[in-house]
Amino acid sequence: MEKIKMTTPIVEMDGDEMTRILWKWIKDILIKPYVDLKTEYYDLGLEHRNETDDNVTVESAEAAKKYGVAVKCATITPNAARMTEYNLKEMWKSPNGTIRAILDGTVFRTPILVKGITPYIPTWTSPITIARHAYGDVYKNVEMQVEGGGKAELVYTDKNGKETRETIMDFKGSGIIQGLHNIDASIEGFARSCFNYALDMKQDLWFATKDTISKKYDHRFKDIFSEIFEKEYKERFDKAGIEYFYTLIDDAVARVIRSNGGYIWACKNYDGDVMSDMVSTAFGSLAMMTSVLVSPDGKYEYEAAHGTVQRHYYKYLNGEETSTNSVATIFAWSGAFRKRGELDSLPELIKYADALESATIETIESGIMTGDLYLLSKLENKRKVNSKEFLEAIAEKLDKKMQ
Ligand code: NAP
Ligand code: MG
Repeated sequence: MEKIKMTTPIVEMDGDEMTRILWKWIKDILIKPYVDLKTEYYDLGLEHRNETDDNVTVESAEAAKKYGVAVKCATITPNAARMTEYNLKEMWKSPNGTIRAILDGTVFRTPILVKGITPYIPTWTSPITIARHAYGDVYKNVEMQVEGGGKAELVYTDKNGKETRETIMDFKGSGIIQGLHNIDASIEGFARSCFNYALDMKQDLWFATKDTISKKYDHRFKDIFSEIFEKEYKERFDKAGIEYFYTLIDDAVARVIRSNGGYIWACKNYDGDVMSDMVSTAFGSLAMMTSVLVSPDGKYEYEAAHGTVQRHYYKYLNGEETSTNSVATIFAWSGAFRKRGELDSLPELIKYADALESATIETIESGIMTGDLYLLSKLENKRKVNSKEFLEAIAEKLDKKMQ
């Protein structure tokens, strides 16, 4: 069989621990037999980040900007324990944070649904994708605790030194104050990433804030979304047969619970933090959650939502058997291949991405699964396999599809 040719490389960002092991196996067992794999490789493993003073992370993000499609393995975000474990020069920043800052992107998280694992909300028959704004609000707040008997004011000093003031509170007794901000450019980028992604997925986009109470702050979010939609996206949405829908956050939550899924839910930073944990838990497993970072100008970085599965890695190093779920990492690769195929007009590469995903889902639905899913699945014929056996079972199905 002739291997599928690629024209533009995918930016490959390798990572750490158990997911680094899975990364290599996925390439050897599921990709290289079928695809003449072309990547520009960046080793984001913690040792190499440390050797390069973390420049490799920046270079990989620049490459993602240049080529437009990247796939990333989970990486360690160093903490005190990792400083000693890896003898680090510095407590390097989270690679995801660095990459997100360079691409100025929004993260979209989508669960992968399989028969046998029912969401806690049984009406959710299609995935719900959460898009979380990644800048500002309470995550960049300034706070004070005050004693009372004083006045708190909001003061803005413009570039000529002119002040605008609003009284926040005349404190009789003690209390607390919080200052929040956001930036139009960041909200605009968020809006465009969401509209582009909705067009990509051919799914409706929902957005919600509390603009009835927050008449300037949240209202600004609503207005920016609405202006950009009317000017730049409305026609394309009509053509694609999809809808942009704005509502209040409390109404949105009620509608989400009653829905069947199948849409993208854009959330402000805090709402996204809270709601993405709720939605992913309700869908079953972090190991079945994919994640893609989309920049406002249409660059894509695909990854799994989970971490490096450290506990399994230490078992692996001890020579013990592991049963680590590789589904989200496989879907990161298939997402990148599909996007590369679309951008470069390579229908064979798109077909391969589809085949890889359906082979993976069919493997689990035939009863063969890793330990985490074994605990959740209601299939009667379910069987737990180890990390590598799972990939080999997928390969068997994939091979038939690729003949
Ligand atoms: P984790 O890798 O998400 O794993 C936490 C636990 O969840 C695992 O111990 C395992 O439970 C279960 N789990 C997660 N993914 C699984 C999979 N694919 N298959 C089976 N079980 C899975 O989080 P962590 O172990 O707490 O963090 C390890 C490192 O990941 C940290 O250094 C953190 O900085 C990093 N991290 C990276 C990213 C990223 O790169 N995007 C995201 C989050 C965390 P059991 O042990 O009970 O089997
Ligand atoms: Mg959170």
